[in-house]
Amino acid sequence: MPPPITPLEQSKDDHDDLVFLEEHPAAPAVAGARNVWRVMIIDDDEDVHSTTTFALGNLDMQQRPLEFVHAYSAGQARELLKHESEIAVILLDVVMEQDDAGLHLVRYIRETLNLADVRIILRTGQPGYAPEIDAIRDFDINDYKTKSELTRIKLFTTVTAAIRSYEQIRKINDSRRGLNQIVHASTQLMALHGVQNFASGVLTQIADLLGQDSNGVLCVQECPDDGCHELMVMATAGSYRHLDNTTLCNVEHKHIYDAMELTLGQRRNVYGPDFITLYFAGKASRDFVAYLEVGRAPTEIDERLLEVFCSNVAVGLDNVELVTHLHNAAFYDQLSKLPNRTRLVEILDATLSGPARDDATLSLVDLDHFAETNDALGHQFGDTLLVAVAGRLQTQLGGQLTVARIGGDIFCVLGDSSQVNPANILALFQHPFSIDGQDVQLSATLGLVRLGEHEGSGADALKDADIALKRAKSQQRAGHFYFSRSMGVEIRERVRMMHALRTAFGQNQLFVVYQPQIDLATRRPVGAEALLRWQTPDGKFISPDRFIPIAEYSGLIIDLGEWVMRTACRELVDLRKAGHQNFMMSINVSQVQFRHPHFLEMLRKALEDTGAPPEFVELEITESMAMEEPDLLIKMLAQIKQTGVSIAIDDFGTGFSSLSYLQRLQIDRLKIDRAFVTEITGSARGSSIAEMVIQLGRNLGLAVIAEGVEDERQAQILQALGCPLAQGFLFARPMTATALNGWLSNDALEGAA
Ligand code: C2E
Ligand code: CA
Ligand code: CA
Repeated sequence: MPPPITPLEQSKDDHDDLVFLEEHPAAPAVAGARNVWRVMIIDDDEDVHSTTTFALGNLDMQQRPLEFVHAYSAGQARELLKHESEIAVILLDVVMEQDDAGLHLVRYIRETLNLADVRIILRTGQPGYAPEIDAIRDFDINDYKTKSELTRIKLFTTVTAAIRSYEQIRKINDSRRGLNQIVHASTQLMALHGVQNFASGVLTQIADLLGQDSNGVLCVQECPDDGCHELMVMATAGSYRHLDNTTLCNVEHKHIYDAMELTLGQRRNVYGPDFITLYFAGKASRDFVAYLEVGRAPTEIDERLLEVFCSNVAVGLDNVELVTHLHNAAFYDQLSKLPNRTRLVEILDATLSGPARDDATLSLVDLDHFAETNDALGHQFGDTLLVAVAGRLQTQLGGQLTVARIGGDIFCVLGDSSQVNPANILALFQHPFSIDGQDVQLSATLGLVRLGEHEGSGADALKDADIALKRAKSQQRAGHFYFSRSMGVEIRERVRMMHALRTAFGQNQLFVVYQPQIDLATRRPVGAEALLRWQTPDGKFISPDRFIPIAEYSGLIIDLGEWVMRTACRELVDLRKAGHQNFMMSINVSQVQFRHPHFLEMLRKALEDTGAPPEFVELEITESMAMEEPDLLIKMLAQIKQTGVSIAIDDFGTGFSSLSYLQRLQIDRLKIDRAFVTEITGSARGSSIAEMVIQLGRNLGLAVIAEGVEDERQAQILQALGCPLAQGFLFARPMTATALNGWLSNDALEGAA
């Protein structure tokens, strides 16, 4: 705010007691006006010009001499001011061409020419011509004096004050400009990804800030703790471009190295006459240092701005490092350093929309039995093994490949079909991997997708590869499978069935049938197996062989299985009420159900709620299921046994249970698979497996039952071999509860007859 106008004071008694310096009338003004203060005198009275220059001419202010610019009318001043720059002070006459020509000129200077920094001192001959207060405030007039007032000493102090204020304004404006530039620079820098980009952005911004060309190099100090002090070049500019991707040593680039070392050691910027080194304190990580050649030594303001800039940028560099780190964690597998699933999907999307698409193949590489290797040899060993597999996939297939790790033991290879094919990939697993001097033989199963035939996104391609992999795994180990569109159709069909099954369950289209099991010697029923049925509204039956896997896959089996369990238990109770006291109920339990954490609870509750006696309930689990996760199974079976129910191994003979393993399982009964019953022809060879199972049962003290007995001959042979129990169409087909009740009564009658 300009000072309020006080009544014009008279200072006539002021004495010109200044000591004037020796006159240097010939001394030319310093070119470029940087080192002088330029004062413009605008007055139509020539005497005022000469007295003013005489009064101020030889004085230094703030260590700089004055330089005068003269205008003798407002009009001339206008013209001059259009081209003059860096005028610090204007001594302006109010009354010239017109009474208020000076005031108009002020408006022109401030508003039209937009010169805000220059200080203006108004002078008038007559005290009555004082301008309005508003004009003084609005036009930022810094002083107003009558000419008579301006004695030499008064003039000197007035102009000195104006120059000081001009200097301050310039400094503030410079630093404000600089700060704006820093803010701008920071925003620009934040938009750059990666430490390298950020670092070269920093060099550019410093050059901008100093208003000079950028010749410089930015380094990061590696491992500052162990004294090795390697200066790794992160970015270069101008004449230092040749240093890109190098490490500075104190031989070849000694002056840069020394300057940087000094800066890092002192942890502050160093300003030399023709170079500066800037220090960026990495708070979260490493320290950075920049070396820049400069054409001129930075001013005090430059230095202060650079300090602000450096601390700003240090935070930025830290952030960029952090973000880079996070980026890596989000897109790369930490163990193998390979792209992870997220990154792979991005790469796949890019490939699918690029020219390489038609010839590209995607292959999932699933290591067989890796979990067992991991368990047996330890996780650290497993990790090393995975890294070795990653390395082999990366180096031995040749060409431009993407290798990713998308799951614990699942890798992914993407590239040209001439490289990415089963023969090439599986060949990599022919030789063992040598880990810690130990040879490990691995095999892998592949699921492949030809991208040229693929419709859809990268994520879809990965899903298709997974479907193909599942198919390959279900068929044979160490094999491969290409995804085909018909598999997609099959999948859609399965999804459709999944929905239909859910609806069917909700609408009571499912029911349980019972297939009697009989004592071969007496041919009397001893129990029944509960089997699930699904009849669609149009009367069609869908085989449980089709819908049970879907129920398992979708998880519906948990609810479905519980419902079967409860229905069968209730039926058992009903049968007992009808007089069939020694009747067993066998219930199939799927692996998914069995693994469910609440299985035991569900079982206990079904028994309790229905009142079914556990000693007449048997659970059938398949042999293949018995072979997986032996420890878990042994524990589970022990707990199930405590509820009082018994356990049968279904489809026995199809798996490869070892005798010693069977002995550890708490089971009660073996169920000879239908396939071996069908084989029984009477010849020794045909019945050999059935015979073996029967013997095994006898040796282990287990009951044995044969299923799928279709003719009398089979029944007789089985009985002759020592199999006491059987189930099959020969005796009865699965039937509804009502039918079973009737069948049992008839049978009972027949038996009684
Ligand atoms: P499974 O447990 O081996 O059931 C025996 C299957 O053999 C039944 O087929 C039965 O109808 C059939 N069968 C019985 N006697 C004969 C015969 O003499 N000749 C022939 N050719 N077949 C005979 P189903 O009912 O189609 O069941 C197929 C499979 O579905 C069952 O095999 C079982 O694994 C599964 N399943 C059925 N119901 C359930 C259930 O409630 N829960 C679970 N988890 N699985 C079930
Ligand atoms: Ca069964
Ligand atoms: Ca069976």
